Amino acid sequence: MKDVFGFNKAINWDKLNDPKVLKELEKVFNEKPKKKKKDNSKKNDMFLNCRSCNTIITNDYRSKFDKRYCADCL
Ligand SMILES: [Zn+2]
Repeated sequence: MKDVFGFNKAINWDKLNDPKVLKELEKVFNEKPKKKKKDNSKKNDMFLNCRSCNTIITNDYRSKFDKRYCADCL
């Protein structure tokens, strides 16, 4: 994955070792989605972020096969 915007650097990895933060994360992950959002997107829909890895897709980095994904995911 290209880190074009330096997101990886922006993440405070030390926070992930904080028990309080871990507990909050656990809560988020254990929460069950109330309603499943219907996904009506089609192959040629342009997404700002990759549908799979959530990375912002720059024009030259978009998948040729499915515009919803970045080149890494598809
Ligand atoms: Zn992706």
